[in-house]
Amino acid sequence: MSHHNVSTSLPELYLDNNATTQVLPQAAKAALTTMQTQFGNPSSSHITGLQAKSVMDEARKLAKLTIGASTGDVIFTSGATEGIQTAIISALCAAKKSMVAGKEYCLLYGATEHKAVPESLKHWNELLEVNAQIKAIPVDHTGALDMEFIANEVPNALMICTMAVNNETGVFQDISQLDNTIRQHNPDVFWMVDCVQALGKMNLKISQTTIDYAPFSGHKLYAPKGIGFAYIKHGAPFTPFIAGGGQESGLRSGTENLPGMAALSVIFKMLLGQSEDKFVSVEQQYGFRQQLVDALTQAFPTVVFNHQFENSVPTTLNFSIPGFSSKEIMDLFDAANIRVSSGSACSSKVTRSFVLDAMGHEAWQSESAIRLSFGPAMSQDEINMACQRVALCAKALGHSCLMTDNGVDAAALDGLVQFKVGGSCSWLLVDKASSSAVIIDPLPELVERFNTLLGCQGLTLLAVLDTHGHADHESCRTELATRFLPQQTSDYLGWPVEMPSVTVAGQTYQYIALGQQWLVKLATPGHTQDSISFLACKPVVDGDNVLTVNYGFCGDTILLGSLGRTNFDTSCADAMFDSLQLLYRVVGANTLICASHDYNNEFTTTIGAEMTRNPLLAQVLTRCITREEFVADKATLDAHIVDQSGSEIVCGAFVGQCDGQMVKEYANDTLTGAMTSDTPARVIDIREPHEYELGHDERFDCNVPLTRLVQFIQEQQHDKEQPLILVCRSGSRSHIAAKAMARLGFNNVGHIHGGYAQVQCAG
Ligand code: PLP
Repeated sequence: MSHHNVSTSLPELYLDNNATTQVLPQAAKAALTTMQTQFGNPSSSHITGLQAKSVMDEARKLAKLTIGASTGDVIFTSGATEGIQTAIISALCAAKKSMVAGKEYCLLYGATEHKAVPESLKHWNELLEVNAQIKAIPVDHTGALDMEFIANEVPNALMICTMAVNNETGVFQDISQLDNTIRQHNPDVFWMVDCVQALGKMNLKISQTTIDYAPFSGHKLYAPKGIGFAYIKHGAPFTPFIAGGGQESGLRSGTENLPGMAALSVIFKMLLGQSEDKFVSVEQQYGFRQQLVDALTQAFPTVVFNHQFENSVPTTLNFSIPGFSSKEIMDLFDAANIRVSSGSACSSKVTRSFVLDAMGHEAWQSESAIRLSFGPAMSQDEINMACQRVALCAKALGHSCLMTDNGVDAAALDGLVQFKVGGSCSWLLVDKASSSAVIIDPLPELVERFNTLLGCQGLTLLAVLDTHGHADHESCRTELATRFLPQQTSDYLGWPVEMPSVTVAGQTYQYIALGQQWLVKLATPGHTQDSISFLACKPVVDGDNVLTVNYGFCGDTILLGSLGRTNFDTSCADAMFDSLQLLYRVVGANTLICASHDYNNEFTTTIGAEMTRNPLLAQVLTRCITREEFVADKATLDAHIVDQSGSEIVCGAFVGQCDGQMVKEYANDTLTGAMTSDTPARVIDIREPHEYELGHDERFDCNVPLTRLVQFIQEQQHDKEQPLILVCRSGSRSHIAAKAMARLGFNNVGHIHGGYAQVQCAG
């Protein structure tokens, strides 16, 4: 743990056993002893070698007993991925010999299989020139394989790969039913069952099946990484994946991983009941699961479990909480020192779960999925602690007003909040003193979040506004207005009728008074005919001949790195030319522009910053091209818009660089120096308030969540030289935010590389 005080120091609860496990102390000890005293090479014929060989022989004997393999071979591998290669190469090399020209063959795998399986099938199918068609076997809503599909397809299959237990959901397959279906329709097909998540979680009697190959992995059950084993049925064809010195009877060459085997033996003995150390019984595991389910349901009443418990091992729970992405729940749990995972840890860049998609779950479930997994070494104390911790997490959400009615006083909002969904933004402008707020460009995904937030903060909504009729997404303006402003009459973009107006420098503006700020309306047609901008500015007093604008909400007129496209039916590049010049006149070069899109995580911009990277905008504003030239250039640009994400309509052609900013990276050693130098750096925790509340380093006394970054930038505009160091959970949010600030001229902004994970590990 950290040598600095973390304000709430909760012990780590590791609930991600399906990704990997801690090595059990007894297993670690066995590995260490083997390294130190039984270090021999099992192939050597001297006594040291013979002693090493006995370690290996014992491990093999115990492995066979554990998986119920009274016949067949067990070889030791580096892990399951190697076992999978071995099985696939063995099966395909043998199958190739018996292929008949002109016949169509297939390779079958379960749709919810770990990626190691389909990827290896694809790889070796090509490399070995088998060229069979690779087909995914569908699963039903419960995750069970489609037996009819198998019955129809398996007669033409060279190999079929299924899994005993799914790593994301814990769903197990009915092996004996599978066995019957496969063999009834093809007695000769090679069958691999990935048993990685089954070891120690269910009874395996492998010799009672016709499984040809079964890979296992040590690190999923308390042995170290780098050791695994594979079962090969007696008589099943075999081709070594690793050739060489002929170890493992020539089946797998290379000097054996004896420490790994010794550790595995300790686990096998525990599973076989041959050890004083005991795992908890399966009944207890069911009890643990029920306790966790109850705690989650109580803390998050809307929680949805993404699998049925009847066909799942008790050690895995996969759930989604409506309104929260996987990332948000991960961040929350991590802040409470509970380690869980989103989707599959092996493909953590993916924000949705292909397993849940294959089961036909709704998109939101897949995007919000959280996997919580424990193992048979779990204790009652840890489960109790986990349940308390889950309750604490739910409570913490109250600090961000993401959940209400949980007895938590949320910090009162004041100023600007930015919400993002994909590449789109919504903005909430709050005046704390008058408890009033305005929402701009509300995204439909955020309806419930706005609802909870307004209620939790006790805010009165003055208007819900759209900057234009959005082509790429629906606005939830009407829904919010109906709920919160039933009495208000407004135009179709939400501007209330009969608002007061003010004239500044010959231009008359209508405005909404929001406490000590005015939201002024300005027509800025171009992107669409109806495009308007809202300018949050100081109230105008007699004699003012300029507006003092804090934020410009320009919709899609000026985007980050681009201009709004003008090739829609209601677009007009000609009008945009005037709107750009008008905006520049009114808001100037340095006012923060709050756009309705942020495709590249830049949060906000200024016209000045845009001019340095958007030549067309610069030409318009410095009046060095004509209106006709602008219209022609704009048409060319728009013709090249490519949709980035397939489903999302991109609202402007990106012209600017976004990734060139260098920000300073801090680590433990450089951080202290920076904080105690002559111009001490301010360290800013940019996680959400609920994460901050659950625990933070006491030296980082300022919390600016990403949703409030734009306001922070606005308030910090006067001093761009102040050294700032941003910190988050993993260093990813802080890096994005630091780059965004650096782009706007903050010259001394950096972040902690690796985030809290790195700061806490030291010491
Ligand atoms: N198969 C399944 C079901 C898994 O869960 C994993 C690991 O996540 C693997 C295979 C790969 O195992 P290893 O890490 O030992 O290569």
